[in-house]
Amino acid sequence: MKILFLSSEVVPYSKTGGLADVAGALPAALAEIGHELLVATPRYGHIQPPDGLEALDPPLTLRFPFGPQAAHYALHGRAPNLRVLFIGNDAFFARPGIYNDPSGSDFPDNHRRFAFFTLAALSGAQHLGFVPDIVHFNDWQTGLGPLALRRGYAGTALARAKSVFTIHNLAYQGLFPKRVMEDLGLPWDVFTPEGLEFYDHVNFLKAGLVWADALTTVSPRYAQEIQTPEAGYGLDGLLRRRTGDLHGILNGIDAREWNPAEDPYLPARYDQDALDGKATCRRELLSRFGLTTTDGPVFGIVSRLAGQKGFDILIPALEHALGEDIRLVVLGSGEARYEAGFRALQQHHPDKVGLRFGFDVALSHLVEAGADFFLMPSLYEPCGLNQLYSLRYGTVPVVRAVGGLDDTVVDVDADLAHGTGIKFGPYDAGAAAHAIGRALELWRDPPRLRAVRRRGMHQDFSWTRSARAYEALYRSLVRPESAAGQQLPAARKAQ
Ligand code: ADP
Repeated sequence: MKILFLSSEVVPYSKTGGLADVAGALPAALAEIGHELLVATPRYGHIQPPDGLEALDPPLTLRFPFGPQAAHYALHGRAPNLRVLFIGNDAFFARPGIYNDPSGSDFPDNHRRFAFFTLAALSGAQHLGFVPDIVHFNDWQTGLGPLALRRGYAGTALARAKSVFTIHNLAYQGLFPKRVMEDLGLPWDVFTPEGLEFYDHVNFLKAGLVWADALTTVSPRYAQEIQTPEAGYGLDGLLRRRTGDLHGILNGIDAREWNPAEDPYLPARYDQDALDGKATCRRELLSRFGLTTTDGPVFGIVSRLAGQKGFDILIPALEHALGEDIRLVVLGSGEARYEAGFRALQQHHPDKVGLRFGFDVALSHLVEAGADFFLMPSLYEPCGLNQLYSLRYGTVPVVRAVGGLDDTVVDVDADLAHGTGIKFGPYDAGAAAHAIGRALELWRDPPRLRAVRRRGMHQDFSWTRSARAYEALYRSLVRPESAAGQQLPAARKAQ
């Protein structure tokens, strides 16, 4: 099949979170199993042109009510069957930041930037003569795409493509004031509660959910949760109506990038049969964070510092846990209030807490390798990647049982034979502290800890498995008759 894949961030070119990892790895896995992929993404100013980048001249001009906009295309052959279509427009994309300025404020023209990106991607495929069977849209930035396919490209070869829309995080919806309808030249008949209207605003994500042929999200558990009012962010009713079209497909991990046996970012490599290198990584990690060695466990965090990630309960729980002989290393970037919370912990326990605020890919690998436990007490978590990296690196995840965390971690006490981590349920500091206490108990039982680590390292979360699930879904859309009776990943029903 020919698949056009749109994402506002793609590893290794741009990244703010898990979406970029998925958009880097899933198309590559699909190409490896024989599909032809064209991945469209904005050409942000910070992106170094990859070798062999080919500019496609002249640019196309797209017309909007706010003025004509030039789409400068450049094509990069990344692998057999896998090409990346960069979409350039300096006024929109050559600025520091992907969604917001350095102070953290959203760019005021994000609706224009990402509507432009989405339409330029569709028109660029046309321009290249790439006639997709499937157009796969991701998150709110590309939400207008399924609508555009139905309306703007009706009667063209593109219109026969089926659309898939993936929700990587339902909380980010791309909400804009109603005047954006005129600004973008959207037809008013879609500004209804059944369409893209959301409490008198334009909701880009909702447009994707309404008009795509199929919907997916990144874990079966999250697919279930978003159909409930608690996690549905006002869109649970719509998602319940589309439950038959909604599929939960677990993300994979890039097993080449995240492999402790070959990781170039580590001072020593290791695998499940020879864990000695992990001790070297641990020493290096403590020294990089200015911490002394210890016989107690090292807890690691790599995260966006956002409300979603559970720091409101974790910071008080750590205040309590730091009374024990443990170390805590935190690599994060985001909201100042969480930075302040961690700084306060460090002030109280300077010899036990190491902090780095910023985005640092190399250091994130060292934290995964050098820590003994990885903390992820998320309020909600669509899939989560760091717990998967932790499992692969023999670092026991301590997680809250939500979304993809619940789907991928098996609690050591609930299932003695299969346990890979520590899970807790209630969203409160007491429950988080109790989970950390259980990690300490596991630490004091080395044979058991070794078994849990090894079991985690044996798990298979490779992309090939997930790519097969997407392939089955695509086939069911393109040739529904041949897919009849095939097993598709189904979203569990909301309770
Ligand atoms: P989300 O997409 O909600 O941020 P995920 O767990 O799905 O969460 O993916 C986060 C990705 O971003 C992971 O690859 C993680 O290692 C990376 N990451 C998050 N914060 C940082 C940071 N400060 N430095 C380096 N990598 C980070």
